[in-house]
Amino acid sequence: TGTVIPSDLYGFAERLTPAERGVITELREVLSTQVHPHLNAAWDEARFPAEIIAPLRGLELMDPPALRGAGEPIRDLFLGFRNFELTRCDINVATYYNAQASLFRTVCAVGGSAEQARELDPKIVSHELTGVFGLTEPEHGSDVAGGLATTATQDPQTQDWIIEGAKRWIGGATAADVVATFARDTADGQVKCFLVPTSAAGVSMKVIPRKASLRIMQNADITYHQVRVRDSARLQRINSFSDVAGCLRRMRSDVAWMATGAMAGAYEAALSYVRQREQFGRPIAGFQLIQEKLALMLGNLTASLGMVVQLTEQQAAGIYRDENSALAKMYTSLRLRETVALAREVCGGNGITLDTDVARFHADAEAIYSYEGTHEINALIVGRAVTGVGAFT
Ligand code: FAD
Repeated sequence: TGTVIPSDLYGFAERLTPAERGVITELREVLSTQVHPHLNAAWDEARFPAEIIAPLRGLELMDPPALRGAGEPIRDLFLGFRNFELTRCDINVATYYNAQASLFRTVCAVGGSAEQARELDPKIVSHELTGVFGLTEPEHGSDVAGGLATTATQDPQTQDWIIEGAKRWIGGATAADVVATFARDTADGQVKCFLVPTSAAGVSMKVIPRKASLRIMQNADITYHQVRVRDSARLQRINSFSDVAGCLRRMRSDVAWMATGAMAGAYEAALSYVRQREQFGRPIAGFQLIQEKLALMLGNLTASLGMVVQLTEQQAAGIYRDENSALAKMYTSLRLRETVALAREVCGGNGITLDTDVARFHADAEAIYSYEGTHEINALIVGRAVTGVGAFT
């Protein structure tokens, strides 16, 4: 097996530099000693414990000191394996971290003017400014491109914008400083994006209760009533939904890495269980039908890892398109669903308790399956690209 990641059979992580591997190894150690021990209780109680995010911030994973010290650039491949490692520990932790490190950082980098991006990025990297991504609405999920109903009206006197509307499912919003809020300009009908402070007058939020997936991570319903923001809070390079799609392309590739990391987490937890569980007088790991399931899980993981590594090489070279990341998000999420089901299966009855870790991955995989574009929507993006015919409406 791989020397960098235990379940990396083909050794994809060997492409990391020694300094990058060092950061990933340190991350793994912090996750297993400081984060993992809190997870199952937090999941059971549906609460987000602050103590699980502090150690991650301390590692400065968006710009690790070890890479800076070695004079190495922050490569997309490193960021991919970072997402893999976070999710290998837990989907909630990775999703929470990536609201800042992937969704918010990407929208500011891609959507901000050069000056805005220069000003915002260091604050995002240091967590001095925390933000989340507010696109989905109560009445518009898959059809948000055409349906987005939150409005932004510019005051001709002050140039301020008045935001009115609602968002749903916004991950991490209650703990953030700002919500990157997408709204339709009432003058030209185009989708624009505004960094709306969560403390602004007229913003109210409610945590979505009773979730059966991703219970540690908090998602919010947000309403905006006559919320006034300065023109300087508008990200200058988001002037239509196709600019939003440019952000989603990058985010879908991050989620594909997360789905792959979650497969590794579920597979490794299952492998450890079957080695110690005995039936008929011997470890169930020795039964042929159990070994076939392990091979299926490892096959899903290995194929997905190969896919995301190649996608990331394309991304770094600037030669990938919407369908490339849509396909990876769709495929890895589907394989994840299959993998967590197999992992749960080999754990028998204990697979439905939190104690084996597998039940958490099994339930949380459903969130990955639906967010960042559902299976169907990503399939339709691929379908449109390969046939030339859009089938969305
Ligand atoms: P719907 O659009 O109502 O879809 C319901 C079903 O209909 C799906 O199976 C869908 O694929 C299918 N469907 C819809 N249209 C078609 C079609 N044309 N053809 C075939 N099938 C179709 N959003 C944010 O903006 N920020 C976040 O931080 C965020 N975090 C999230 C975290 C979680 C845990 C979840 C569950 C969601 C999050 N989302 C977030 C929202 C997420 O992106 C949406 O849930 C997703 O886009 C689907 O929208 P919907 O839930 O409204 O489903």
